[in-house]
Amino acid sequence: MKREGTLLDISDGKLYDSNHMARIGCEDCKGCSACCKGMGESLILDPYDIYQITNGLGISFMELLQGRMELNMVDGVILPNMTMKGEQEACGFLDERGRCSIHAIRPGICRLFPLGRYYENGDFRYFIQKDQCKKENHSKVKIKSFLGIENLKAYEAFVKDWHAYLKEQEVAVKNALNAGEDEKMKKLTMEVLQVFYMTPYTKDDFYQQYHERRKAKLSPVV
Ligand code: SF4
Ligand code: SF4
Repeated sequence: MKREGTLLDISDGKLYDSNHMARIGCEDCKGCSACCKGMGESLILDPYDIYQITNGLGISFMELLQGRMELNMVDGVILPNMTMKGEQEACGFLDERGRCSIHAIRPGICRLFPLGRYYENGDFRYFIQKDQCKKENHSKVKIKSFLGIENLKAYEAFVKDWHAYLKEQEVAVKNALNAGEDEKMKKLTMEVLQVFYMTPYTKDDFYQQYHERRKAKLSPVV
């Protein structure tokens, strides 16, 4: 979820890298599933999430769109997010015991919470989102362990690249809109979805598959 305001408005102002310790430990969320409910369209999924979930569950992205995920416009491009369902507006992967049924392959945004990413000069660092986690008395944990992501270095490089790419697409969509280039704008709006989500990922190395697609898309559509 993109948050507005200064770093001090939304955090204690401290920035961390993955080797730092931060007070975010919440006993594995025991008894709490607050951030799996009522999140609207904010749990946006990136290509690594789709690679993990489609391969982990053995289902296609199109099948996930039949109830578990939905598509929405985010800064000019169409991206998938977790669907919040029912009276409780709960994520479709939350089980009856209030636990995540895809814990091992849960999306990056779920792993991250209550951390956020602060992007600056082509890089990012982590910050603790103020008053977001419902648990009290958080313990100190190493961010790297908290995230529990294999090959974190490659993952963080992907996150930076993906963020930069979405920014480029946002600018290209705005330019096409201002120039009244409707066809180009429609193409740009859809291409992220088609190239990085609808085209299936095999179980082979994600980063190689991602970078091959990125290489083909280094410059926005003309
Ligand atoms: S994927 Fe799992 S952790 Fe993420 S919102 Fe859904 S139930 Fe919660
Ligand atoms: S609000 Fe905090 S404790 Fe509750 S599910 Fe989310 S991260 Fe876990």
